Formats: sequence, structure tokens, C-alpha cells
Amino acid sequence: MSTRQKVVLIGLYSDRYPAIGETHGVSAIAGYLGDVCCTDVRVLDMVAKGQQQSELAIALCREVQPAVVGLSVTYGTFDYAVELWARLQAVVESSTRFVFGGALATFLAEDLLRATGPDSLVVIGEGEEALAMLVRGESVKTIPNLCFLEADGAVRYTARRPVDLTVPYLPRRVLQKGVQYYTEASRGCSWAHCTFCLRGLLDIKGRGSEYRQFPAERIASDLVRLAASGMSSVTFADEDLLGASGKTAEHVATALRIAQKVVSRPISVDASLTVHSVCSRRMTTYQREARTSLLREFRTLGLRKVFLGVESASSTQLKRYAKGHSIEEVEQAVRILLEIGFELELGWIPFDPLCTIGELRDNFTFLEYNQLASTTSYLFNELRIQRESKYHMLVKGYEERMGSRLLESTVDRNTLSLGYRYASESVQSLADSLHRFAPRLRKLHYPMKNLTRFGEAGALGESIDHGRALVREMRQDLCSAFLAVLQSKEAEISPKADEAFKTLLPVLAAKVLAWTRSLPTVTRDLEIVRRLESDAATESTLL
Ligand code: SF4
Repeated sequence: MSTRQKVVLIGLYSDRYPAIGETHGVSAIAGYLGDVCCTDVRVLDMVAKGQQQSELAIALCREVQPAVVGLSVTYGTFDYAVELWARLQAVVESSTRFVFGGALATFLAEDLLRATGPDSLVVIGEGEEALAMLVRGESVKTIPNLCFLEADGAVRYTARRPVDLTVPYLPRRVLQKGVQYYTEASRGCSWAHCTFCLRGLLDIKGRGSEYRQFPAERIASDLVRLAASGMSSVTFADEDLLGASGKTAEHVATALRIAQKVVSRPISVDASLTVHSVCSRRMTTYQREARTSLLREFRTLGLRKVFLGVESASSTQLKRYAKGHSIEEVEQAVRILLEIGFELELGWIPFDPLCTIGELRDNFTFLEYNQLASTTSYLFNELRIQRESKYHMLVKGYEERMGSRLLESTVDRNTLSLGYRYASESVQSLADSLHRFAPRLRKLHYPMKNLTRFGEAGALGESIDHGRALVREMRQDLCSAFLAVLQSKEAEISPKADEAFKTLLPVLAAKVLAWTRSLPTVTRDLEIVRRLESDAATESTLL
């Protein structure tokens, strides 16, 4: 292929995960191809529009006639990816290469290849170098991080290689108001032990040693560029922004200091931290004070909101998850972050197939007692079990020991998870009750959460404060009601849960409806808001 190949990159959107945000992987690859290979790259990011845009994608491919079409297959988009591929390949040259990437493509590579034919390729994990080598015309067999079908139909995986983060390139985005944008300081996770985590499968070996940082100047340049384009907020896509050591945390601070020197007003930043990057029982008093003081400086450098991967407040469940942190460390980390003035959002997975009613009580008591329900991302998350993850092995071990089967054999292709039933009958009947109401709750909570969670304003502009208050109230009401249910006798828990959800959902819906109706017309016209309003209207009629 020549050095000026045309490439179209498309970020796919799913109605199951309503949000308006950048598909950062697409922006990163677009930047790499443009800066390193001088490729002519066109991007259509459907997630940034908050809707599927099949006709636009078809028109773009028909007009550009690209040598390569890259489809980012995010959660919920497996079937859509296959459907869109069929329509796109009808309007491009037969020589056009279709490349699928993203989390879903990585894990379902073989399914995607079989569904889309022998000429398709799947990128496993990070895609910048693989796409660049493909565009340069190198043989697919020599390109790292690829999966493809051999002539005899056998599936072939090429060698894995982490992308070299010192290669100078910046993400390319089509910037527009109201979209949540992402940047990166690192790839991988310095902890890399959590039993349920997908990270280990996305990375090469899933080890903490694969955590690596972009050069500080590169991190700063991306922030400066976003600020110069008028963006007032950005979210770090990193799983573990500060890493495991004082050195890695200092590296991020250096980047933010460089950026702050250049921009007149620091860009507001949201980021995910591990509990141990805030405080750890292994830190000396000196190290703990130094870390707290660095976090204070991060606040002045623009860090606004911290996503903290707490997941559980039950010591036995934390052990199953191998989170590595204790409940005391969580409490301390939360105290430090709130005292400094960060907004907080907790990652939270109270349900896993081996959990007990006692563990659930511990979890929800913790939230209520520490007044943290309003900051919890979603109160009723059930653990997603990915095939071959450490947690999958753990449940298989349980099944063998107990001679009972919990796991289903098929993977949901849109969520990558294995279905299961709970080991405890009481938890199972509580989960059954939850499943009866969760889809209705999700229609209200998920879009509200995504519209209000990031940055200073996002798509909502000045209406965001009211929206955020409403999400907090919704979570608090749900937590209090659920804890009251959990405190009943085990036999009464499930019917009481039914009753609580039945009463509460229409009340919450009426509040959401009143809020959407108060929004300016331009916001109310957004697809995600229109759908939310319609769902809230339907639900509130049950009052
Ligand atoms: S801290 Fe987060 S990214 Fe790291 S292993 Fe645990 S769940 Fe995965």
C-alpha cells in the first residue's frame, strides 16, 4: 500500500449503553495513523453522537472508498457490527480490508471472523501499530496483535506486542460541545490481580509490569490541545492513573504541571484511582503524608472527580475479588479524597455468584453508614464473569467441590459474560426480584448517570447541577430501601424487595420526568434525553 492510504474508522454505538462520549481508541488510532504514517483518516464516532448512524457510515465509505475500514466493537455492539459490516462491504471495493477492534472484538475474535468472512481481521488488544503496519502493506502474518482466518479456515493469532508509548503522536478527535472526551496517561494496570478483571486478557499476560506511562510531555500536550480547543473538562481513560509507586504518581503530576503552565485556566480532569494509590497500610507515615499532599496538589491542578474501584465492603467478598485493599483502607481513602474536596464515584459490585445475604448486608450497611450511596456508580451491579478469568476458575473450583453447577456454558456476546445462578438460594431469589425491576431502573439511572457523571457540564450545560442532585437522591433512596429489605428475615427478603422496587420506581420516574421537562429544548431534543423522558413518562404512570 502507498503512504497515503485512506482509512475510515467507525466507533459503534449501542442503545443498551446510552451515553454521549468519545470512543477514545478510535481517536488514538486515528492520531497514530495520521501522525506516524501520514494516512488520510476519516472518523465517524457514533458514541459521540449518542446514536447509531448506519446511513452516514455507508455514505462515508461509499465516498472515501477506503483501503481499510476499522470498526470499534464496544459493549452491546456485536450484532450491530456484523450487520453494519454486511452493508458497508456492499459499497466498497472488494479489496477493502475490514478490521474489528475494541474489547468485544478482542474476546470474540473467532466469532466475528466466522460471522464476517475470511478477509476480515481482528485486532487483539491495542491497535495502533497493527493498523499502521496494515496500512503500510505489511503481511498480516508479521503484524502483531492480529487474529485472522487461514485459507483452510483455521484461526491464527499473531504475536502479541504492547504499543510503544514513546512514539510521538496525539489522538485526533472531532471536537464538539456536549461530548465527554478522554485522554490517557498510561496503559495497563499496576495491580492487575483482580479475579474478575478483563484487563488480564486484554493485556499480553495481564501482569502489573505491563503498566506503562506515556511521556509527561505527551500527556500534557493532549491536555493543552483540548484546552486550546475550548474544552473545559476531560476524563482520563486510564484504569489506574497514578500507578503503584510514588514515581509513577509524580510522573502524572509533572504532566499536569507542564499543562498548567501553558493553559490560562486548568482543564477540569476526572480520573480512576485505585484505593492503594490514595493510601495503603504498607505506606510509611511519611509516604502517606507525601501522597496526601500530592493529591492536594492534583486538586489544584484540575483533578475534579475520582472514580474509586472499591467494589465491595465485605472482607470475604474482597478476598474473592482479590482487590488487595481492606475496608479500613477504603474508608481512609474515601476520607482523604472527600477532605481534599474531590467529587467521588465508587465502583461497586455487591453481587457475585458466591455472595451471601450477610455479605450484601455488610455492603449496603457500609454505604448507608458512610453516607456513600449517593456516590456509588450503580448500587446493584452483578459481577460479570468472563470466560477464563481467575474468577471463572474460582467458581469452577466451587462447582467441583460442591458438586453443583452455577455457570451457564454460553457467553452473552454483547456483554462478554457468562450467565450464572447464585450459590445461595436466598440471594438467588433476591436477584430474581432485582432482575424483574433492574431493566426498568436501568432505563432511568443509566442515562442519568452518563449525562451527569463527567466534567463540568457535558451535554446538559447549566442543567447539570439539578441532574446530579437527582442522581444522588435516586441512589440514596434506593440504598435505604434495599438495606431495609436486607434487614428482614431471609424468607421475606424477596417479596419485600419486589414491594420496595414497585413502590419506589414510579416515584423516581416522576422526578426524572419533571427534570427532563425542565431542560432547554436543545437538550431535550438529544436522542438520549428524548428516550429517557419517554421511559420516565411510561414508568411514572404506574404511580
Ligand atoms: S484495579 Fe481495576 S484494572 Fe486493575 S486489575 Fe483491578 S479491576 Fe482490573
